[in-house]
Amino acid sequence: MNCGRVPQCRLRAGATVNKFIRHPWSVISPRYYSVVRGRSPFIAIIGSGPAGFYTAQRLMRKLSGTQIDMYEGLAAPFGLSRYGVAPDHPEVKECEKSFEDVAKDPNFKFYGNLSVGSRGVVGGFHGCAVRLSSLLRNYDGIVFAYGSSKDRILGVPGEDMKGVYSAREFVAWYNSHPSFSEIDFPQLREAEEATIIGQGNVALDVARMLLTPVDELRKTDMADYALEALSRSRIRRVHLVGRRGAMQAAFTRKELRELQELYPKAYLQSQHFPADLLPPKVTDRVKKRMLQTFHALREMSPSADPEAKSWSLDFLLSPTSFYGSGSVEGTAFAVNQLSDPFADNAKAIATDESVKIPSQLVFRSIGYKAVPLDGFAELNIGFDTRKGCILNDGMGRVGSTETLDEKPVAIPGLYCVGWAKNGPIGKIVNTFQDANDTAENIIADWKSGSRFLSDSQAEPPQGMSKVQEDIDTNLSDIVSWEDWVRVDTQERLEGQALGKPRVKMVAHKELSQEAKVP
Ligand code: FAD
Repeated sequence: MNCGRVPQCRLRAGATVNKFIRHPWSVISPRYYSVVRGRSPFIAIIGSGPAGFYTAQRLMRKLSGTQIDMYEGLAAPFGLSRYGVAPDHPEVKECEKSFEDVAKDPNFKFYGNLSVGSRGVVGGFHGCAVRLSSLLRNYDGIVFAYGSSKDRILGVPGEDMKGVYSAREFVAWYNSHPSFSEIDFPQLREAEEATIIGQGNVALDVARMLLTPVDELRKTDMADYALEALSRSRIRRVHLVGRRGAMQAAFTRKELRELQELYPKAYLQSQHFPADLLPPKVTDRVKKRMLQTFHALREMSPSADPEAKSWSLDFLLSPTSFYGSGSVEGTAFAVNQLSDPFADNAKAIATDESVKIPSQLVFRSIGYKAVPLDGFAELNIGFDTRKGCILNDGMGRVGSTETLDEKPVAIPGLYCVGWAKNGPIGKIVNTFQDANDTAENIIADWKSGSRFLSDSQAEPPQGMSKVQEDIDTNLSDIVSWEDWVRVDTQERLEGQALGKPRVKMVAHKELSQEAKVP
């Protein structure tokens, strides 16, 4: 059995991979291992978002006979494709079609509503959970693809006031995430201005949801309760605030243009826009086009439509506190300056100046964050708390908390991918590439005879058929792929009748009942 601590190792000179030290087991002759194995691997993937599915797809395609058991804490698959991507971006969710093809492979099994680690860590119903150590005993390898399910905080006074939310909560709420569906945003009914702190694509998604006419959103799969709340929203003005300048903003041009296209229903109020945005020479094509968009935005005049809402991009402001009595009434910012307004890595330097932006609704949109799973400490699995991701060699091999010559030691058979590997960066296309890279490394390790989890066991691993002996909740609460297909079919049928892609089931009870009623 190989579920304990990573053994101390003595390393042969030069046996390193990148900045990582490979376990000495991995230097045993490849021939020896290929003879002993003579079979394909059995891999557990934790998380059913794009990273998990793309990894499964590549492994099964390139290493014939590979078996995959996919564990997902929620009753529904697809991670942020279902619960993060904005409802008015249905084309992004097209990736789900190829995930459905992956799931049709007889070597693939899905176990939904079953968290690895502690119960209900991502909000599954009845809190079904399995310990990580159980998986270690029953697979050749484990791929951590569990994303980044927490959010970063600013750490400034007043952040926990009523009216200050994370963008993550709002996004999960309008996307029918079962753990967030009951949040009330009373400020939508009361406030006229909203401030979003952060200038990435998620911040722009939130702004778009607040500014888009609700009748447009009714054609999407946005939750009914969110449509209802947004139809009563009094928000007329959205401030998108960034600590650096226009050329350092993290959003992409496509997403910025979507806000532009809301005109005349929502227009840019450009008074906070830097006046000197035209540098003498910009040669970078992406930057040049971004500048053109900024200019087009500046030239837009306020809409004559009395119903029109407005938004602004407010640059060079760092939040210093939230103020108000009981509930937030506004945010105080330090005004920054940049050493070079056009350098990507320009640092924001606070000046003595400060400004206040009054608003009773504030969203913090400064990024998501992964956390270690329960069991990581006991198994010495390394976690980079600064970057918010699993310690890895950049190629998906998980590193131990133990070091040799000050370098982390790779743990045989453990891999990570996607946002759990890199932190919360990148679109689905980047996650696809990353998953292919990790899968290729798993394949290379398997073929070269590197050590995997099962190598000290007499019998090949048996996956879920053994893991289930360690699950102490009702096994019938686990959602299989067939169960999910029932839910999916029902959601699409309801959507079809209303001219939407689907009507998502929300509550745990709803999902579990639909899944389990044949
Ligand atoms: P995730 O998608 O987060 O998947 C992780 C999965 O693991 C989840 O299903 C989670 O429930 C599960 N899980 C977590 N913990 C456990 C556990 N302990 N046990 C079992 N399962 C667990 N990209 C685009 O290309 N276009 C867009 O328009 C776009 N919009 C976005 C909007 C938002 C708000 C966000 C946050 C991201 C957006 N992205 C977009 C980026 C895209 O969603 C990510 O690149 C991608 O989802 C990352 O995939 P992942 O599998 O690593 O993580």
